[in-house]
Amino acid sequence: MELEKPLASPSTILVVVAHPDDIEFGIGGSVAVWTDAGHTVVYCIVTDGAAGSNDPNVTRESLIERRRQEQINAAVLVGVHDVRFLGYPDGMLQPTLELRRDITRLIRELKPYRVILMDPTTIMVKNEQFDYINHPDHRAAGEAALYAVFPSAETRPIFPELLAEGYEPHHVSELYISFAHQPTLAVDISSVIDRKVAALLAHESQLIASVGDMVRGWDEQAGKEAGVPYAETFRVLRFIREETPSPVPIGATTTPEEQPTDESQSSPSKSASMMS
Ligand SMILES: [Zn+2]
Repeated sequence: MELEKPLASPSTILVVVAHPDDIEFGIGGSVAVWTDAGHTVVYCIVTDGAAGSNDPNVTRESLIERRRQEQINAAVLVGVHDVRFLGYPDGMLQPTLELRRDITRLIRELKPYRVILMDPTTIMVKNEQFDYINHPDHRAAGEAALYAVFPSAETRPIFPELLAEGYEPHHVSELYISFAHQPTLAVDISSVIDRKVAALLAHESQLIASVGDMVRGWDEQAGKEAGVPYAETFRVLRFIREETPSPVPIGATTTPEEQPTDESQSSPSKSASMMS
């Protein structure tokens, strides 16, 4: 598997997930690598985390503030000082236009080069370690973020209310999909694995210490496939372009190159060989 190469210049990276602790399970090591390299990483936590307990004595309301503080504490440990909470109710998230607009607004405000989101196509997972049903909030946040990246963030006529608020279109150049079915790229997190686990365990209301060993084991396994001690993996899509092409005017005629030439019409043997 390809190992990530450093970006040439300091960039802004936006991470969008459903819950407090999603980042720390999946990509906290990569975040530490990126902030150490001088990039600015911003977290967007879509839900309020209020469904993070089955204890009948714990109310939704009492959990929200605690989990918010845990997320901020975890972020600082890997060099992140900007955490946005969208506050949607945990456990009931839908990929609505309202959510897509909120994420679009954030992309247009921060103008990230790279966006990280959770794979919206993962419904169920069966693997050697354990089986699980992917939380529907993960899929909903992933889908809304995916379509915020394209087309919403870069297309001027979509969400005109954002233009009225002063948010101009922005083109995202790279998409990193975490918890992906078919990862294409690994980030070497060997130098920061201890910080990743520390950030994970900052979610004290959710986790016991042994979870750190479990996640360390996942990353060790991923590292084997990448040839390093510890790694996190992503499916990466790149939309890098030098400049925005000029739009074709409505009603423009086709170019002469698209018309068949006399030569091709008078040469049936050549056409036949091209079709085989
Ligand atoms: Zn989650």
